[in-house]
Amino acid sequence: MAEYLASIYGTEKDKVNCSFYFKIGACRHGERCSRKHVKPTFSQTILIANMYKNPAHEQLYTIPPDQLQQDFDLFYEDVFMELAKFGEVEEMIVCDNIGDHLVGNVYCQYRYEEAAGNAVDSLNDRFYAGRPLYAELSPVTDFREACCRQHEIAECNRGGFCNFMHLRHPSRALKRDLQDAQRLSVREKERESRQKRREEEDDRYSRHDSDHRRYKYDDDR
Ligand SMILES: [Zn+2]
Ligand SMILES: [Zn+2]
Repeated sequence: MAEYLASIYGTEKDKVNCSFYFKIGACRHGERCSRKHVKPTFSQTILIANMYKNPAHEQLYTIPPDQLQQDFDLFYEDVFMELAKFGEVEEMIVCDNIGDHLVGNVYCQYRYEEAAGNAVDSLNDRFYAGRPLYAELSPVTDFREACCRQHEIAECNRGGFCNFMHLRHPSRALKRDLQDAQRLSVREKERESRQKRREEEDDRYSRHDSDHRRYKYDDDR
């Protein structure tokens, strides 16, 4: 029985835990959901709810696609650089959905849980574009599972109100630049910690040396 329960945990067959919350980190029923939204105590993934304000959803006139992409790239870069301060980012995604529970959601998956925890603690005390941020640890482990398959290949007939993630992608060049920058800074940090370790080792050896000398003198006496 326990094995069966484990195998259906967080799936549609699970009558206790909400599969949407488990897979997507957000469910349209919110707090009123009849199934449980089990918030993780540790996770590599964080959710910053409702952070991206898509100007296309706010304006009455049509914004040219180039301008929209430029605007989005600025946002993406800005947020990525900030989130990368807490640790190595594996993936950062932004939802383009318009339903209340997914609109403007930013998810960031870190390499280490510790970085995710620190990010949540720090972000909840901060503002972005004049609005307070709301961040939490998210149960999402695989963004591919959370994304709408239809939207990825063509048009999804549920449009922005789809309950699976519809992603807005940064331009390829920006994504590459950010990954390169991060790789460089990770390498730099590794180099620094190696250097520090070497210095500590040197310290220990020199202490040994002086010990030796003392014993030697002791013998001499
Ligand atoms: Zn739910
Ligand atoms: Zn969809």
